Amino acid sequence: MELLKRVEGRLTFENNRTQIRHEVELRRDFRMVEIRFRYEPWRAEEKEISPAQRPAVFPKWSLGEDPDWRAEAPGETEYRNVLMISVDDSGGIRGMTHMHRAEQVHRIGVGGLTTEGFRPGMVPKGPLRVTISAFSVWGKGCSYTLEVYGEPIEGLEWRPFELHSHTVHSDGSQTVRELEGQALALGYGGLALTDHNTVSGQREWSCAAPELVRIGGMEWTTFHGHLLFLNCSDYLDWRGLTLKNFTETLRRIRERHPEMIVGIAHPFSTGSIGCAGCGFEFELRDWTLIDYLEVWSQTYKGNQKVNEAAYRLWTRLLDEGRRITAVAGGDWHVPLVGESGLSATYLCAPEGERSPRAYLAGLRAGRAAVSMGPVPLLELHDPAAGADYGIGGRMPGGPTKVQARVGVREGSIFGAHRTPQAGDFLVLESSRGALWRGECPDGTASVPLDISGVRWVRLALYDKSGGLLAFTNAIYREAEEPGDAT
Ligand SMILES: [Zn+2]
Ligand SMILES: [Zn+2]
Repeated sequence: MELLKRVEGRLTFENNRTQIRHEVELRRDFRMVEIRFRYEPWRAEEKEISPAQRPAVFPKWSLGEDPDWRAEAPGETEYRNVLMISVDDSGGIRGMTHMHRAEQVHRIGVGGLTTEGFRPGMVPKGPLRVTISAFSVWGKGCSYTLEVYGEPIEGLEWRPFELHSHTVHSDGSQTVRELEGQALALGYGGLALTDHNTVSGQREWSCAAPELVRIGGMEWTTFHGHLLFLNCSDYLDWRGLTLKNFTETLRRIRERHPEMIVGIAHPFSTGSIGCAGCGFEFELRDWTLIDYLEVWSQTYKGNQKVNEAAYRLWTRLLDEGRRITAVAGGDWHVPLVGESGLSATYLCAPEGERSPRAYLAGLRAGRAAVSMGPVPLLELHDPAAGADYGIGGRMPGGPTKVQARVGVREGSIFGAHRTPQAGDFLVLESSRGALWRGECPDGTASVPLDISGVRWVRLALYDKSGGLLAFTNAIYREAEEPGDAT
């Protein structure tokens, strides 16, 4: 572990009921952060309580004095110095403790590394703030030591998610338990529950199988289109929504719920006579309100024309300079075990991560690949600067000669063709069209590229008849000339 910050401080009676904040800037993501805090003395003795401190012994009861009762002064052991720790990262509060200990060790991290009182998950790059809440400091005061350690990320894990599913809480035929069982049986490592206009199914998440990352969500099912809200645990009322007030309404929701991830479901679906409003009719005047587009809906082949149109829409948005993540959504309504052609959205987080936060941040940033078979891998390497850019990364507009590292890894979904087969081929697609085409390498291959004028690059995998099997999200490139930006 790496020591990120060490402070020694002293608190006096004047610090009573104040918050003392210490901040450390994390220059990268951490798998785990450990906070070691100790102070002494644990308590003050009666004789150390000065006359100035005496009035603070009793609360100033605001609810009125009781004429028949008077509080007694506490005994000596009660003059304890009570200091509590809370932690915030760049995404908000990670937890607070209320443990009466003069020596405290708290951990926040992936999987089971997190200690009581804190929300699990990797600790993202950015400011990390440790707050000491001084409930009481008596006598001559106390001195403290605060140390913050970080454990670096060792490896990344690509986890397959199903991001669109329904249960008996709307028009699905399976219970939440059955849905969870199905996801696990098919090889998914993550599942978003997105029932139509309700979140009531989320209370039925089971506690079994903690290896399945569960994301609470809701599918906004309106008269004029369907939107998916992930990391959503409460009802979002759409009943006042019109074609006209759509953009403003969505903007207000986003301001109120910055933690939510918002996507457009099956944009070109025509639905059926019984399913009015499946196709997207709203006029979206601000694409920054949308994090992702469901480019593949249901099974790819089952919905081929609609999915091809959505892929073209996504490509056009990328060409216009929008940074929209593309995902697959099975829109599961019925048990699917045994069905072929299932796809997954692979999201990436530090190895061992089981809380949704890091995956959702990755989804928003575009660290995602979509596949119904093997998973394509892509990285751009700028040899002059020694810099690497992964999927969803943003590279500056300057460098034009780069190396693309391309490859595929085995997919995880059962019933799919999980490893490359004879004739499968890769294409590096970009805003300037195809930059390279080649066979799937064993491991990774390095491809020299001239990316002059290119605004984005992605890697797509096709089968021998030219059918799309998988694709990565884009690596984005800044405009070369000022004024070229969109
Ligand atoms: Zn829908
Ligand atoms: Zn749906």
